[in-house]
Amino acid sequence: MKRIAILGSTGSIGRSTLNIVENYPERFQVTSLAAGSNVDAAVEQAQRWKPRVLSLTSEKNAHTLRARLQSAGVSGIEIAHGAAGNVRVATHPEVDFVVSAIVGVAGLEATYEAVKAGKTVGLANKECLVAAGELITAEARRQGNPLLPIDSEHNAVHQCLRGGRMEEVERIWLTASGGPFLHTPKAKFAALTVAEALNHPTWKMGRRITIDSATLMNKGFEVIEACRLFNLPPSSVDVIVHPQSTIHSMVEFVDGSILAQFSVTDMRLPILYALTYPERVKSDLRFPVSDLRHLDFRPPDMDKFPCLRLAYEAAEAGGAKPIALNAADEVAVAAFLEGGIRFSNIPEIIENVLLETRTQKIESIGQVLETDAAARQTALRHVERRSSKPPLPHAASAIWQGE
Ligand code: MG
Repeated sequence: MKRIAILGSTGSIGRSTLNIVENYPERFQVTSLAAGSNVDAAVEQAQRWKPRVLSLTSEKNAHTLRARLQSAGVSGIEIAHGAAGNVRVATHPEVDFVVSAIVGVAGLEATYEAVKAGKTVGLANKECLVAAGELITAEARRQGNPLLPIDSEHNAVHQCLRGGRMEEVERIWLTASGGPFLHTPKAKFAALTVAEALNHPTWKMGRRITIDSATLMNKGFEVIEACRLFNLPPSSVDVIVHPQSTIHSMVEFVDGSILAQFSVTDMRLPILYALTYPERVKSDLRFPVSDLRHLDFRPPDMDKFPCLRLAYEAAEAGGAKPIALNAADEVAVAAFLEGGIRFSNIPEIIENVLLETRTQKIESIGQVLETDAAARQTALRHVERRSSKPPLPHAASAIWQGE
């Protein structure tokens, strides 16, 4: 029986994970949950899963949850809150496996502490590897525990890498759908609306990641994630636009063989893979192979999508730059979603923040958070300079987006 902690249990990855636990009751048990700020969903999850610990973002929410569980006659659940609550959820002594799915830097510390406590971690949170990848992967190596990627591309690469040894890898091919603006001329980018940018062709995802897919920044983050997870230089990680999103990614070996992974576009599959690794277990997630017709591939246009170029540069520089890249992107995307800046301002703001961030080696999570906060302030200044709206108070601090 694997005992599971979920950081971000009310978000889409969290709910998919609980769906898997539901379908494999003989394999998995829920031990602890970090549920964000959605009290209604937390009450439901507490009643359904009876975790040992349940954590919410704020003390006020934790208080409301406690009162509601008491009046519902649910007892025996430790209610925690805030960053310490996330750490408690991630490091509970009975937990074997931690699903890290809190969007934003809010999940960083808890994920790092889970790795330090010797837990096996399934990573769905991008910031863990983008902002703190060097620290977290070094600690996982020290502990001798695998970090299992839940992001579909990295999960695909992880699967393909089982076909050879690391020293036999020539390169990784990360596939990108190209987003909704693959065929939109760059001249139109300044006038793109939020609704157009939120209309992703393949995946239904959260708002920030959908905008990140439209700018290709999401793919840029994935390049950094791949470099950290698989310990490869950026020059060995290639992005290839594949509009059908059928192939989730590929690994090319030194002999010229290329292994690709494809399956239904359902996040439950990478979650199941991570939860059961190194085993594979039976599922009903079948791909209709005989329906396959066209697979198109083309190189990405880095001139049209400068976010991807900026991410490669940050990956190469390492240290403080990827942290600034992520923080600046979060602030710029939030400003775009609120209608304050144009779509084409997003890469401009990020580039300016990167230029103003000193190359610096990062040695602790505290330093990651400081660098993140400083980059957010810089980004806000650049937003305000361009914005048609008043400043965004909440974008200055890390926000919980797990619903
Ligand atoms: Mg992905």
